[in-house]
Amino acid sequence: MGIIVQKFGGTSVGSIERIQHVAETVTKAYKEGNQVVTVVSAMGHHTDELVSLAAQISPQNSKREMDMLLTTGEQVSISLLAMAIQAKGFKAISLTGWQAGIQTESVHGNARIEMIHTEKIQQLLDEGYIVIVAGFQGLSDKNEITTLGRGGSDTTAVAIAASLNAERCDIYTDVLGVYTTDPRVEPSASKLSHVSYDEMLELAALGAGVLHPRAVEFAKNYHLMIQVRSSQHDEIGTFIGEENQMEQQSVVRGIAFESNVTRMTLNGLNNHVDLLPKIFTLLASEGIDVDIIIQSVTSDNLVNLSFSIKSENMMEAITILESKKDYLGYRSFDFESELAKVSIVGSGMVSNPGVAAKMFKYLAESEIPVKMVSTSEIKVSTVIPKSQLQEAVHALHKGYELDRIQEEVTLKN
Ligand code: ADP
Ligand code: ASP
Ligand code: MG
Repeated sequence: MGIIVQKFGGTSVGSIERIQHVAETVTKAYKEGNQVVTVVSAMGHHTDELVSLAAQISPQNSKREMDMLLTTGEQVSISLLAMAIQAKGFKAISLTGWQAGIQTESVHGNARIEMIHTEKIQQLLDEGYIVIVAGFQGLSDKNEITTLGRGGSDTTAVAIAASLNAERCDIYTDVLGVYTTDPRVEPSASKLSHVSYDEMLELAALGAGVLHPRAVEFAKNYHLMIQVRSSQHDEIGTFIGEENQMEQQSVVRGIAFESNVTRMTLNGLNNHVDLLPKIFTLLASEGIDVDIIIQSVTSDNLVNLSFSIKSENMMEAITILESKKDYLGYRSFDFESELAKVSIVGSGMVSNPGVAAKMFKYLAESEIPVKMVSTSEIKVSTVIPKSQLQEAVHALHKGYELDRIQEEVTLKN
């Protein structure tokens, strides 16, 4: 008898009707002779609602108390799903993250799973229970309740699947699978049949919200194939696994984007070897994540330095840079918010020169200015005005002919 892990996201458990539909899917897998572990997110927008309740108290609440608050969301959905399954005449039991043995590092708000003590889940499965586990939460070795970062239920599911050596891990969501880009933004986006771990890691890290980046990391490290599929339509979704040679033809497989980028620029810094460690250690010590960095040296040997950050960190970054003007020694400083980052991803890029050149061409043809660029072996990212993001996604999607991928996939199947 194999173990199947299924994960259902917020929309998929957003109402009692939907929970009953999930109960149907779960019990179908059980009736087929599988042991089933189901991981669920909080119902609908429940987590967002809890976040906004806390924001009414203070814009900056204690991270420990935020974890205490947010983990209640999943406790609602696991118990309701267990009840719905019991009502259909099956044995089901819900477990919080800590009851399920999910041990995380001792960090609030964005903890990594360190290990899963699977004895309890395994014992319940062997007793014939369908086990429902709360996503997104765990317990640190200090006995503190932690969360895994927004969207972290995917990671709970994949980590449990890896620890139990599961036969399958299906991530049920509100779209049919992983698309060439977010289908809600680009209507001509096509569903991909297979995406490699490395491509999915990049897409997820660059903003494709369909999977939590750490879930992909786990799957890759444990060689676990995952399927992203619809909770509403019983169709094959997208498989995330090892590189598939057949799929290599299209150089660009997907487009990801983020719309909350701010660029900071420090002008006239002294060109000294200590400069970069000084600035970036300062920002890191305040918990500000820096993304793209561009440095140029002027003819009078001064340095101009631009870097991008998430817009929500902008005020904090400005305060730090202003208060440390003498220490850092810059002449002037400015920033530009209302920017976005759009990225193209594809493992075929490694051996194909000119991919970035085409990207710039497609953006230029739509009169979209490129403010910053960064590249890796399998991606090119550009920072552009936020107001032109949708236009940029459309231009690139069309330019790289991603709207035609569906045909290729059908032919290959
Ligand atoms: P869940 O609650 O099931 O975890 P999410 O909202 O986290 O669902 O993820 C699904 C959403 O991800 C989709 O509704 C879609 O808008 C968005 N998305 C972004 N990029 C992609 C992509 N490349 N393919 C599919 N969906 C994407
Ligand atoms: N409920 C959490 C969130 O909204 C975790 C998840 O859905 O994966 O981020
Ligand atoms: Mg999600």
